[in-house]
Amino acid sequence: MLTVEEALEAILSRISVLGTERVDVLGSLGRVLAEPVVSRREIPPWPNSSMDGYALRAEDTGRGAALAVVGRVEAGGLPARVVGRGEAMRIFTGAPLPEGADTVVPQEDVESTGDRIALRGTLERAAYVRHRGEDVRVGDRVLEPGRVLTAAEIGLLATLGHGQVRVYRRPRVAILSTGNELADLGSEPGPGQIPNTNTYTLMAQVLEAGAEPVSLGVVRDRLEAIEERVRAARDEDVLVSSAGVSVGELDLVREALTRAGAELHLWQVSMRPGKPITFGSLGSRPVFGLPGNPVSAMVTFELFVRPALLKMTGRRRLTRPRVKARALQPVPNPGSRRGYLRVQLEASGDGLGARLTGEQGSAILRSMVAADGLAVVPPDTVVPIGGELEVIQLRELP
Ligand code: AMP
Ligand code: MG
Repeated sequence: MLTVEEALEAILSRISVLGTERVDVLGSLGRVLAEPVVSRREIPPWPNSSMDGYALRAEDTGRGAALAVVGRVEAGGLPARVVGRGEAMRIFTGAPLPEGADTVVPQEDVESTGDRIALRGTLERAAYVRHRGEDVRVGDRVLEPGRVLTAAEIGLLATLGHGQVRVYRRPRVAILSTGNELADLGSEPGPGQIPNTNTYTLMAQVLEAGAEPVSLGVVRDRLEAIEERVRAARDEDVLVSSAGVSVGELDLVREALTRAGAELHLWQVSMRPGKPITFGSLGSRPVFGLPGNPVSAMVTFELFVRPALLKMTGRRRLTRPRVKARALQPVPNPGSRRGYLRVQLEASGDGLGARLTGEQGSAILRSMVAADGLAVVPPDTVVPIGGELEVIQLRELP
């Protein structure tokens, strides 16, 4: 059986970055930049004032200097004349500095008598002046490809006049839930039926990974039906199914994938929850057969599908941050497979403490709902109270 690391490596070695597309600048939030951005503007475009006050010449700013106010310039306007010796011009934040002036004195630092001002103190040359190009120069390479775009980058793109930007494409991910027992949202489960959970958790996880989910609905445990649904997803970039990948008589997903033309690369990984996970290629497209229990499906998505989707979207960091936490209760992982146990994190001493989110069965979805992270615990181990746990952090810390 493969280790989690071996399986992930086998998967990622067969995943490549998708193509690129141009999108509106706001739509690029959270996407990965696919081109360098070189500035064709100077920011700011001309010297301007960072305060409401008076523009003047530094040489005139000795203590007690009295200057004639010769005009006024507001943001959005232009100075009507130059500022000469012994003169000052009323100026507002963001207004262009008049020619001749090199310094701004804030209004609170002068005594004003309408058409004359007297300075209260001394000033340094160039005080309160924002210089042309002090933020960005023409020709500056301000953003590199591979950058994940956030609000600041989007502001910069807008400042530089880019209404659109080239980013990596988002994979379209087909989600298929298999099982005779599944009743989908919108119908009450009848006798012997259970609600379909996985379609929704997996589609949400796809969205969280910055990709685009496409539901293929629920399909019965019939070879031809599964095969046909797999073939119907041929235009999507990735296929993710859940359930039907163990060794039971009704576990038909692997065979259906093969019949639809997939080459399967791996099956079964030494982990708990989630041992039976299948990965293969349908032509150039990756396919994942995840286990059916809701927690197993979520955890295997987290460990294997999410990194693959991130790689396809051009991201370089493919895994979540890991933090160390002290066990606040004994954390047992009996058996021969590595455990990914759901834990809640809390401040404890000068670090973090972790406690299990209750029952850890792979069908106990609430163990996942309450989880801040997955504690990675070696096989046949009980981590004692105070022992160190390595935790894959799934959400912002409380
Ligand atoms: P299987 O791998 O088909 O044996 O499924 C394992 C367990 O997961 C069974 O108890 C199924 O009923 C359950 N299961 C399978 N698919 C889903 C689903 N979409 N939503 C909730 N539970 C499911
Ligand atoms: Mg089944």
